[in-house]
Amino acid sequence: MRFALHNDLRIKATPGASGTCPGCGAELIARCGTKKVWHWAHKGLRHCDHWWENETQWHRDWKNNFPSDWQEIAARDEAGELHIADIKTPKGLVVEFQHSYIKLAEARKRTEFHNPMFWVVDGTRRKTDSKQFQTALADGTKHPTKDGLVQQLWIYDSRLLKEWVHVGVIVAFDFGEDNVWVLRRIKDDWIYGFEYSKLKLVEHISESTPIPDVLFGKPSRRAVRYRRRRSRF
Ligand SMILES: [Zn+2]
Repeated sequence: MRFALHNDLRIKATPGASGTCPGCGAELIARCGTKKVWHWAHKGLRHCDHWWENETQWHRDWKNNFPSDWQEIAARDEAGELHIADIKTPKGLVVEFQHSYIKLAEARKRTEFHNPMFWVVDGTRRKTDSKQFQTALADGTKHPTKDGLVQQLWIYDSRLLKEWVHVGVIVAFDFGEDNVWVLRRIKDDWIYGFEYSKLKLVEHISESTPIPDVLFGKPSRRAVRYRRRRSRF
């Protein structure tokens, strides 16, 4: 975690610092090594939030687009289990930044708990994801609209798509560029979405304004013929 409590203040991990967990109140150790980003760790091996993912610089970079008091916000579910949201805005919108693979059922469970929320997924973790996604884009159908280009992709063209399209809320794939790819709506085996600037996405989150929507188009005939021939996943 980035923050611990010390005399009621949220403090960052620095060598020798001490603090307690804002979630469970346990004593934390400041881990300030060279391999991982500086963070607070629980003394035992277990984190009090079993959904917690070890943080990478990627997590930190995203979180740092937002005020620190929106970061790492703890809440308990009905069973009393503690979960710490990566970002929770004052209006109650949660954003989770996901680097590791998680099963769809797990992602849906977390979505249900945090909702309203959406996900930002690290698309650079597996080497093949970006390449597959490029193929999906190349073979998808383009729908120019007055607000920009909506793309309609076949979900089986990309493992990342297949893993995330059914989570039930907006997902943004981050391939490490200035724009993310926003998965906006699913219809049958097609996902509708668009490329969108990270800065604008951050603005929408910060200001609680809606992310643009899409209208459904029809896949091109060429695309439909192509799907019939081939299924990769
Ligand atoms: Zn804790």
